[in-house]
Amino acid sequence: MASAMMKVTCPLCKEPMELDSSEHDEGDFVRCEECGELLTLEVKKGKFKLVTDQEKKFEEMKGLDDEFDTEGDEE
Ligand SMILES: [Zn+2]
Repeated sequence: MASAMMKVTCPLCKEPMELDSSEHDEGDFVRCEECGELLTLEVKKGKFKLVTDQEKKFEEMKGLDDEFDTEGDEE
């Protein structure tokens, strides 16, 4: 498999990181060097994305759309 550096961003502190696509895969845990948070790697359509466990559960519950951007409580 060709290796490529995938750009990802910590969802908590917004620190940009690069992961080697040949060394990481869906479901891998990656620790943010900036804030120390343990993050889960998601792969969607060939793109890497880091999520917190809470965020991942939230996305599974609400389904497909990940454009949701507000952080208030809009129940
Ligand atoms: Zn971070």
